Amino acid sequence: MKQQVRGRFAPSPTGDLHAGNVFAFLAAWLSCRAKGGQMVLRMEDLGHVVPGAADRICRDLERLGLDWDEGYGAGGPHAPYSQSERLERYKEAIQQLHKKGVVYPCICPRHSEHGGLYAPHSGEYIRYDGFCRGRFSAYDAAQREIGENTGRFPAWRFKVPDEEIVFVDIFQGGQRWNVWKQHGDFVLARHPEGLGYQLAVVVDDIAMGITEVIRGYDLLDCTPWQILLYRELAPDHPLPEFGHVPLITDAAGNRLAKRNGAATIAAQLDSGTPPQKIIGDLAAQARWVPAGTQLTPAELLKYYKPETLKK
Ligand code: GLU
Repeated sequence: MKQQVRGRFAPSPTGDLHAGNVFAFLAAWLSCRAKGGQMVLRMEDLGHVVPGAADRICRDLERLGLDWDEGYGAGGPHAPYSQSERLERYKEAIQQLHKKGVVYPCICPRHSEHGGLYAPHSGEYIRYDGFCRGRFSAYDAAQREIGENTGRFPAWRFKVPDEEIVFVDIFQGGQRWNVWKQHGDFVLARHPEGLGYQLAVVVDDIAMGITEVIRGYDLLDCTPWQILLYRELAPDHPLPEFGHVPLITDAAGNRLAKRNGAATIAAQLDSGTPPQKIIGDLAAQARWVPAGTQLTPAELLKYYKPETLKK
């Protein structure tokens, strides 16, 4: 039996949508709907959250014609769909990984001589040297080393195997990453409760039965980390397909983000720009339709070709 395709939108409610997010969501929606798949919307609200942003994101997706079958606002069998309401699951996953011996408590602070951070000026990653690997038999022992009432907690760090992670990205083609050589053991959670982006995404994508993960190119380098987690958390579960779409830029080649003043999608819609124009402009950038075309995502389905997004 062929597996039901399940795609997802995974917005972080840090503000209103901009064209870059919408382009990734449009690609995720088209890829999934073209195969008759179901879309899930999961709200990734573990970090900084702007009050009201989650509901505005949903409203704007709806105004654009990007719908979902299950998830935030729509309910479904895998509820809740907000990460802030799923903390128990992340904690359990950490325990599961700890039992398997693939994570360990680490007392190195964020800025540590042992590495595991991006160099402040060059932006280059300084590999973690493995200082805490094998040092503590239990989390409590690591906590005692830091001190009980310091307000600082040991992190959970993942033991990365020395091997190449190989996968084929739908748009970026063949990938080969050696996380061990490039990053060393990475932090899964900075907190005993297991809060951490990589972990939460993988736990949720497994639980929600996601079969394709389509998102912006900026998340390509997290994928090998996530594949390592998949292998440990769900060894019998097929990996989803991964596809990282190019980031949309403005005429000057700058990445679109709120911080460089790009008008949000909400602002464009509120000032009367037709949703079909927003979709049409993104579709023209992807070379699915000629410039100036206005259409809905449903109408765009017949022109969608993943090939034009390939490198
Ligand atoms: N919540 C993440 C973001 O908005 C996306 C995570 C993902 O798609 O895996 O950047």
